[in-house]
Amino acid sequence: METAEKILKQYFGYDTFREGQKELVGSILEGKDTFGVMPTGAGKSICFQVPALIMEGITLVVSPLISLMKDQVEGLNQAGVHAAFLNSSLTSGQYFKALEYAKNGRYQIIYVAPERLVTESFLDFALNVQISMVVVDEAHCVSQWGQDFRPGYLKIVEFISKLPSRPVVSAFTATATKEVREDIVYLLALQNPVIVTTGFDRPNLYFAVQSPKDKYASMKNYLELHPAQSGIIYCLTRKTVEEVFERLCGDGFSVAKYHAGLSDRERRTGQEEFIYGRKEIMVATNAFGMGIDKSDVRYVIHYNMPKNMESYYQEAGRAGRDGDAAECILLYGGQDVVTNQFFIDHNQDNEALDEAAREVVMERDRERLRKITYYCFTNECLRDYILRYFGEYKENYCGNCSNCLSKFEKTEVTDIAKVLIGCVKTCGQRYGSGVIIDAVHGANTAKIRGYGMNHNPYYGELAKVPVFKLRQVLNYLFLSEYLKATSDEYAIVKLTEKGNAVLAGDDIVVMKMPKEEEHPAKVSKSKGSGKGAFSGGELTGREETLFEGLRALRSEIAREEKVPPYIVFSDKTLSHMCVVRPRTEEEMLTVSGVGEFKYRKYGERFLEAIRNGEK
Ligand code: ADP
Ligand code: ZN
Repeated sequence: METAEKILKQYFGYDTFREGQKELVGSILEGKDTFGVMPTGAGKSICFQVPALIMEGITLVVSPLISLMKDQVEGLNQAGVHAAFLNSSLTSGQYFKALEYAKNGRYQIIYVAPERLVTESFLDFALNVQISMVVVDEAHCVSQWGQDFRPGYLKIVEFISKLPSRPVVSAFTATATKEVREDIVYLLALQNPVIVTTGFDRPNLYFAVQSPKDKYASMKNYLELHPAQSGIIYCLTRKTVEEVFERLCGDGFSVAKYHAGLSDRERRTGQEEFIYGRKEIMVATNAFGMGIDKSDVRYVIHYNMPKNMESYYQEAGRAGRDGDAAECILLYGGQDVVTNQFFIDHNQDNEALDEAAREVVMERDRERLRKITYYCFTNECLRDYILRYFGEYKENYCGNCSNCLSKFEKTEVTDIAKVLIGCVKTCGQRYGSGVIIDAVHGANTAKIRGYGMNHNPYYGELAKVPVFKLRQVLNYLFLSEYLKATSDEYAIVKLTEKGNAVLAGDDIVVMKMPKEEEHPAKVSKSKGSGKGAFSGGELTGREETLFEGLRALRSEIAREEKVPPYIVFSDKTLSHMCVVRPRTEEEMLTVSGVGEFKYRKYGERFLEAIRNGEK
């Protein structure tokens, strides 16, 4: 492992391995098949790149996305590693040229699209060189149960079997339920793999949910407090992307946009503007982000609630991949539920399914939608909610989410609960939650009259309680199983034993409520907020000035080299430089993220900028 640590320092500039990395690197170096399940940003690439630089021969990395390959190869080249990619973005001339170089042993690491593996030209190359390892990145793509199934991944095993001697096979993914994990081991035919799973937690991410009356105003306020930072704003529909984009442009923000309704060219332009730091803010639908490796995204705002927790965590997880503090904020509005419901009911992906299968999928999707709605309403630790959702049980307090940091008081809501549950019972458990809330609130609508709910004994009983609060209590009743909803499209509210006990006066209901005088939508200020236990605190004013100077230098270099700024150095590395304030080469090499190769390229310029900053 000594060599591995040396390589880590020399090429990547890091002193120590992170959780899981050491085991994974060690296992690969022992020649064992290896499978790593780590959350986004945990540092999967290092796990195969370090051994690739130690082992003799070539490492092939199978990756599903062109943008991902490009980013990784650029990063490696910047670190002084000879790497290349082979995919459909190359012209045939470029492709054969690269293969020629590869045959001559020029590259230690080659990224390749799965579909290429068993082509004649690629096999001709692969059979005549020494392939020491095949890495399967985003390994969940091999499974039909995964979110991004790629049939090409099924060819990997066939390819490996054609090789004269079997290389080490390693696989990595950030998202894998148990079924998908088993699929990966089986479909990639891993042999007695060493499996390393690290937790899903991302301690440097701060989570918040807000339900502002005016989403745009609230978001604008946030953006004004976070100038010169890179962030993504996710909207549910193309139309909302366009609206938000227009308004932000009008308000003078530096924005790019991305959604499936734009032409290829427009999308590519938007994406590049954002990645290269020419535009600070990206407004996009969920079509944006797969394979985007931009590591210095400081915040991800969801302008709408996404369709489920899986999507949310994946999209929010694009913040703070460099490990520095970052914020994930979800702006909830009641309309988001309706829009998502509509998507579920009109999902064209389901058209190929038969009636029964479609019903199962739709039920599953509605259930997932409900779970994320509860996330928006819970007053408990948000991180804990997320981790539980993914099957990890930890403490119920993280100290770095809007709920842990808000003041709550335990409030008894038995009276409200009794009315809600009573209403469900007396209406014969026939209606959805909207009708129940309208009824107890005393709404005088055609629907309520049509259902005869204006004659329900609980009609108008809670007319004085605001609807938002009713929703909150009702959601709490679902969350704690005082009530349940059917999983068909009507989501009819049903009683449970626990609920009956409350009605009978045998149980009370206590929930956490935000303290009345406090505003839940308090927005934090300043760079990365520094709240994360991870960030090591905020920069002081003096450091902040230096940081801006170093950022400017980084942009200049990025322009010269035609690479995104974070490929030169990450935000985290720049912050660390501001704290260390190195004066010599030796000191500079102690900064996390400064390897020898990068030092030779840029070290002097950064040292000079720091010296000038001292004056
Ligand atoms: P993943 O592929 O798991 O999402 P990456 O491989 O992109 O994560 O790594 C995320 C970030 O963490 C990168 O900026 C990477 O350079 C950094 N990183 C990886 N390993 C370490 C380490 N041991 N120490 C410090 N930073 C690291
Ligand atoms: Zn928390």
